[in-house]
Amino acid sequence: MVNKNVKDSRNMGRATTSTILRSPSNSKITKRSMHATNSSMMDNIPRELLIEILCRLAHTSFTDIHNAKLSCKDFHEAAEDPCVYQNMSLDNFPLVAWKPLTKKEEAFFTKCQDCQNPEIPYRQAVLDYFTGKGPKSALAHLQGALNANHIGALYVTCIILLFSGEDELKACGMKLMAGMKKSKYVRGKLKEHRDRLKSMLRTMWVENPALRRRPVCCTKQDNHRRRSSWEDMVDDADVHCEGCSVDSEIKFLLDSLPRL
Ligand SMILES: [Zn+2]
Repeated sequence: MVNKNVKDSRNMGRATTSTILRSPSNSKITKRSMHATNSSMMDNIPRELLIEILCRLAHTSFTDIHNAKLSCKDFHEAAEDPCVYQNMSLDNFPLVAWKPLTKKEEAFFTKCQDCQNPEIPYRQAVLDYFTGKGPKSALAHLQGALNANHIGALYVTCIILLFSGEDELKACGMKLMAGMKKSKYVRGKLKEHRDRLKSMLRTMWVENPALRRRPVCCTKQDNHRRRSSWEDMVDDADVHCEGCSVDSEIKFLLDSLPRL
């Protein structure tokens, strides 16, 4: 009897929902009902949790945040929290704008900057270094992103040190890069940032002459390379020679660059 009631009530729910959704004359009721349901659901979610959810969403996709903001008032209000702007992904926006930014876009970037979004100094560092403005300006911007534990910023810092042309700095870059690869979590993030950097490099004029002098990190004379392809080694945890591991990163980066 209990089961039958449960079944009946489920069917009734289904019938009611589908009837409302099917009937054009009830579209106002549908919207109102759904809005009421959304509102009551939102009332039960603490604002801190809502912001946390939106921060995670912002980190992966600007478009998803934009859509979430349009979906209801609570999302719209919570999405204006500085924490959301601090975590906002800027992947939807080209590194080099080919036309002037609109006022709305300018206001958006200013808000991201005011909220200390590490993507802002990171992107500026990538632009400065690879277009040949010199490492000083790039490293200064990277520091801002490193303060927020931006793994891409650490990766680009390693690249700058490796291509510095100075043995001491190169050794420092090797140590940093090898250290990053020891953590499974960081290796996963590194892959993400490496691919993002590759996409960014395709959109700019790479003119840094330092990138023409390829550093070599593995100086071992014995035949210890176990693989014929270095590409296999980029994400491999099982590479015992730090020099080879870093050389595989250097090769990946140089292969990603437009012809210098
Ligand atoms: Zn080696």
